[in-house]
Formats: sequence, structure tokens, C-alpha cells
Amino acid sequence: MANIQLKPNERQSKSLLMTLECSNQACNYISQKGFEAKIIGQYALHKMVYKETRNTFGLAAQIVIRCIAKVADAYKVSKDKQATFKKYAAQPYDDRIFRFCNANTVSIWTLNGRQKIPFVCGDRQRQLLQYRKGEVDLMYIRGKWYLACVCDVPDPEEISPSNVLGIDFGVINIAFDSLGNSYSGEAVEKVRQSFSKRRTCLQQIGTKASKRKLKKLSGKEARFRKHTNHCISKEIVAGAERLSFAIAIENLTGIHKRIKAPRAQRNRLHGWSFAQLRTFVTYKSKMCGIPVIAINPKNTSRTCPECGSIDKRNRKTQAIFSCTSCGYTDAADFVSARNIRALGAACKPALCSQPLV
Ligand SMILES: [Zn+2]
Repeated sequence: MANIQLKPNERQSKSLLMTLECSNQACNYISQKGFEAKIIGQYALHKMVYKETRNTFGLAAQIVIRCIAKVADAYKVSKDKQATFKKYAAQPYDDRIFRFCNANTVSIWTLNGRQKIPFVCGDRQRQLLQYRKGEVDLMYIRGKWYLACVCDVPDPEEISPSNVLGIDFGVINIAFDSLGNSYSGEAVEKVRQSFSKRRTCLQQIGTKASKRKLKKLSGKEARFRKHTNHCISKEIVAGAERLSFAIAIENLTGIHKRIKAPRAQRNRLHGWSFAQLRTFVTYKSKMCGIPVIAINPKNTSRTCPECGSIDKRNRKTQAIFSCTSCGYTDAADFVSARNIRALGAACKPALCSQPLV
């Protein structure tokens, strides 16, 4: 989806507003007729209401057709009650009533005829627009005009990786890789701890006001987690792309098991959205053709990458791994990342002969 912002002049803005309001009135009219007659399929609705809607509202034929489709779509979601549309709800346009004139202008149908309206958008959006497909939605949000364009970007071909980057989620750091890089950093850690402290504090108070504050805080915290996950996944994928490495991460089952683990086994990052981080890593990798290998994380934290011994006692503490058989000692998250990398490489036979780290 690419969003562009329209910059209509005052007169054009009024025309758009009038058109949007009229389209939604038409939708409500069609919806009521359909609901009363129990006719809600697009084709049947068209037969029943097209002509009179055209005559009543003075909208272009193609707008009425999009309105009928919009109503039929609403009834696909729920047909138990009459669908209603807000005064300025988004309105779909198709290629007969909308087009791009050039790199900076669109032509769009309004009740005052077609209008040529300038638009602005970022570089990323402009790239996406090359793959625009089908309809656009005209949207009016807090006094500004936007067009949401559906874009169908083809996935790039997968690279053939030269090695595998193992990523461990959340032993001590949010993410740690098999090359020894941490992805969270002190600044993120400070904010995370401060959220955690404030949350514990508010939970203990237990008043109405504190509950309200807690709700606000958890929204802020979720936004912070999401932003951090975006940054971390971007960094992981950019690193793998630079090296032409595949990425190995734990499968979803592993993440779910971690969430359900008894309190004592949960790590200090409990509550972090690792499933979200995993999703971000996966889709960002796909966008640049980096293969992602999902592995079963069982024993990855207690296996010695040097001698292969599997023992619970290999994990001296949350942070330190120390093999009881061969004495190999290292940071626990680095050891897990190495094990994840080895499991990932084992799934790609061509990479088995590569050195492990
Ligand atoms: Zn060992």
C-alpha cells in the first residue's frame, strides 16, 4: 500500500468534500434499500439500485458502481445489521475516474467535473507506485486528503547465501547474532527498564487514576517495543544482506513455549514481543531476497558448540555458558546464536562445510 497526500486548492478541496459526502450518502441509500429487500450481493444490488442511485445523486456511473461494491463488501463482513457509512468514509476510485497525469499530479472525478490535483509523497512511496494495481481509496483524515494505492510488489529472487547468520532472541539482549553482535544497546535497555519500573510502581498503587496511567503507559510501551523491533530487524537484515548470509531464527513454536514457561525459567526480557520481531525479520528478509531458516530452538541454550555436549548444567547462570565436558566458556546469548546458526546451516547442505562462526 502506498499513501500519497493530495494538495488541492481551496475550491478543489470543497469539490472533493462534496463528492465524498455525496458518495457516502449514496452508499447509505444503497445499503438501506439492500437491507430492506434482503439483497446484498453486488450483482443483484446493481440490478436493483443502479439507475435510481445514478438519478438521485448525480454521481458518475463508475462512482455508483464502486459505491455498490463498497456496500456489498460491508455485507460480506456482517449481514445481520444494516451497514452504515460515515459522512466522510473512504471512497474507492478505479482507473476510469482516476489517473496519474504525471509524477506530481493526479486527475480525479468530482461533482464539479474532473480535477487535476498535485500530490506529494516520500521516495519509498514513489517506488511502490510503480507497482500500483487496481483501485485507490480517497481518504479525508483530520483536514488532509490522501490516496491509498494498492501496490503489488513482486518479491525479489532469493539470493544463494554463502553462510548463515544465527540470531538468538532475548537471553540477555533482545537479539544477538553468531558473529558476536548485540542488537539492543544501552539506550534501548535504559528505556525498557524505566518502563518496567514505572509499570511495577503503578501496579502496586492500584487506584483508578493509577490504572488509567497504566493503560496509557502500556500503549507507549507497545509503541516503543514496535519501534525498537523495527530498528533491530532492519539492522539484522541489512547485515545479512551485506554479507550475503541466510538468517536462522527460532520457529514460532519456540517463541510460544518461551512465553508459557514457568516464572522461574522466563528470562528478564519477559513481555518483549519476540513474535513481532520475528515477523519483522521475516518480511524484511523477503523484501531483499534473504532466505530465512526457522529452526527448533530446543537445547540451543544448553548445547556446547565446541564439543556437542548437551547438559542443563552447561548454563552456569542466565548470562554465562560453561561446558562441563570441555570447559568452553562464553556469553550465553552468543553460544545460543552459534547453535542456532549450526542448526540453520544443517538445513542448507551446501553450507555445511562452511566454518560455524
Ligand atoms: Zn564442550
